[in-house]
This record gives sequence, structure tokens and C-alpha cells, in this order.
Amino acid sequence: MSEVKTTKPIKKRKIKLDENLLAYRGVWVYIESERGHVHPVSWELMGQGRQLADQLGVELCAVLMDAAGPALDAHCNSAFHFGADRCYRIASPVLSDYRNVPFTKALTDLVNAHKPEILLLGATTLGRDLAGSVATTLRTGLTADCTELAIDPEDRCLLSTRPTFGGSLLCTIVTLNYRPQMATVRHRVMPMPEPQPERTGLIVDFDPGLIETDIVTKILEFIPDEMRDKPHLPYAEIIVSGGKGLGKADNFKLVWDLAHVLGAEVGASRAAIHAGWIGADRQVGQTGKTVRPALYIAAGISGAIQHRVGMEGADCIIALNNDPNAPIFDFAHYAIVGDCNQILPALTRSFGTYLSKPETKVVMETAKELA
Ligand code: FAD
Repeated sequence: MSEVKTTKPIKKRKIKLDENLLAYRGVWVYIESERGHVHPVSWELMGQGRQLADQLGVELCAVLMDAAGPALDAHCNSAFHFGADRCYRIASPVLSDYRNVPFTKALTDLVNAHKPEILLLGATTLGRDLAGSVATTLRTGLTADCTELAIDPEDRCLLSTRPTFGGSLLCTIVTLNYRPQMATVRHRVMPMPEPQPERTGLIVDFDPGLIETDIVTKILEFIPDEMRDKPHLPYAEIIVSGGKGLGKADNFKLVWDLAHVLGAEVGASRAAIHAGWIGADRQVGQTGKTVRPALYIAAGISGAIQHRVGMEGADCIIALNNDPNAPIFDFAHYAIVGDCNQILPALTRSFGTYLSKPETKVVMETAKELA
């Protein structure tokens, strides 16, 4: 589990917070639910939010907005299991499907009424839309797509770190003189916390007085996106990724072959995608997917920072590269120096033989059951 880092106080202007803003207390996480399902990034944020709240000595609160019903109540319970001390529940038929205007009104009214110092949202399509309009309405600072969150122990400021300058640098952004301090985080950047089923908390209902006829946007029909979450890279246990070092489109087949034997998903660097060797939905990295598998095999990938930020959370990284000085070897757990077009088939053969043994199958099945 990622630690909340107490980073060295960064050099920043000393600004005395306005008296009204000094009263803002607590860490909030917006729990994104759609059609009865909570987006997993919300629970990941609860884990991070719990650590921030503990460090600040304040409550962790979950914000839930949906139509009233058993699903909403169940999500409140889950929020407690994932660490919330309190749930702010806004139940209204107007909130049954996401629309920017009523959700922005509900969340800004709630913030103005209860004054949190930190408000976190998932960097999903919905979260990005809502965070932007809420921050603008509240006239406060928002740091998008953070890769790390920490507290400055000197002044309780949220330190929000994110890639900048095309991903070549990481910068830490602070909201000095506005509250709440808002940030969005992409899913799989933070680890999923262990739920604690015995935890409970306080539910506080809030009514922002939403009236359907005040809202000009109407939902006429809901058409689910069949391709959503496909391929399943963010939650894959094993990923084999290919990069430009494969040399040509045909060689990408070697990546698919190894993935097939391992029961893995296939990923790629942006350079391989730009070369047209594989679809863009398989890109891993800053402008692709963030992944956290148990095993990540990178074949012919240099390890540029924009790729690294998307996969460095893997438990075990095996890098295949013919350049012993390739940047990926700085953070890979195992390095295989050589031509990936020769190493990949060798790995496929070896794993194929090993995994087809009956005794290995038993071990693998048991491991799956235990996982
Ligand atoms: P290269 O950099 O060309 O590296 C190929 C590697 O293969 C080299 O290390 C080489 O030594 C090795 N190699 C060559 N031949 C062989 C061989 N026969 N066997 C073994 N190894 C071999 N990139 C991403 O991946 N994901 C992103 O989300 C992403 N977002 C970006 C966003 C921005 C704003 C920008 C500016 C860039 C982004 N990039 C992203 C691109 C990134 O900077 C790199 O250009 C890209 O990751 C490089 O891909 P690569 O490692 O496959 O190719």
C-alpha cells in the first residue's frame, strides 16, 4: 500500500489563509456511482483519503449522490468499510443519471455547507467533468491527474504531484489561499485498500433542493458502451507489453504468443501504437492506461517516464532490452539484456512446457483460489 509521504516542505509563498477558510476541515472523497455501480477508483481514493485524514487528525467523509434506494444505502455501507467516518448522502431522482448541472449544484452546496479542506475525485470522464465545474463554481484550485498526494506537515497543505512538461517532469502543486483543495486521481494509481466489514459511521442527509424542471439537459436514452473497460488492462494480473524495439509489426505476434501462454493481457508503448502495430486501447502510460499487475513483462520498451508512470506500480517488472543502459533497467526488478525477438519465443516455450505439467497446474489453480 502506498504511504502518504511526508515530503520535505517545498519552497512556497507564505500566505495567511482567510479567517473563513481556516475553518475548513476534513478530507472528502466523491464516490462515483453510475447505474448502481461504484467506480473502483472511489475506493482506491478512500484508502489514500484515510491516510491523509489520519495525518491531519480529521474525519474522512464520503459523498454519495444518486436516486434514493437500496443501492445508495449499500454504497454508504461500503464507504464505511473502506474507511469513511461519515457519509454525506444526497438522494434525489434528479441525480439518477449524471448531468453536470444538478451534480455541480449538489456538490458545491454541500461543500459550502460543511466546508472540507480537501476534496478528491476520480479522474474518470465523469469525475473530470464534475471536478472542473465544482472547482470553478467554488473558485478554488484543482490539480488534475495526480500521481501522488501528501500533506505538508508545516501548514496542512495538500501537496498534489502530477506529471508536467509533456510528462518529462513531475511537479507538486499547492492551493495556498483557497479551500477546499481539490485533486483528481486516475484509477489504479492508488492501491485498493482492504475493506473492513466491521466499520460503520454516521450518515448525514443533505437536500440541495433540486427540481427537475430547473434542469435543461434531459436524459432521453442510456446506451451502454460495449467497449468500455475492454481490454481489461487496469485489472490484469499479468501483462506482456511490446515496444518499438520489436522492430516490425509482425514481431508483435511474439508478445501475443507469450501472453496467451501466461493467460496475460497485452499492452504496448505509445511508440508501438504510433507505428500501427496494435490498437490505442492497449497503450500503457501517462496518456494510456495505468496498470498494477502482479507481473509486467516489457519487451523492447525503453522505459520513458511517460510509460513508466503507467506501470511502475506493478509488483514485478521484467524488462527485455538489448541496451544494457536502457532507462527501464533503472526500475525493473529483473533485467534480460538481449534481442527480445529471440527471448520472447524462448520464454513462451519455457513457460508453455512448465505450465503444461500437471503438478504446475495444481499449484496455479491453488494460487488462483488463494488470490
Ligand atoms: P523507443 O523509445 O524507441 O525504445 C525502444 C527500446 O527498445 C530501446 O530501449 C531499445 O534499446 C530497445 N530495443 C531495440 N531493439 C531491440 C531488440 N531487438 N530487442 C530488445 N530491445 C530492443 N509513451 C508510452 O508508452 N505511453 C504513454 O502513455 C505515453 N504518453 C506520452 C505523452 C506525452 C505528452 C509524450 C510527449 C510522450 C508520451 N509517450 C508515451 C511517449 C514516450 O515518451 C516514449 O516515446 C515511448 O514510450 C517510447 O516507446 P518505446 O520504448 O517502445 O520506443
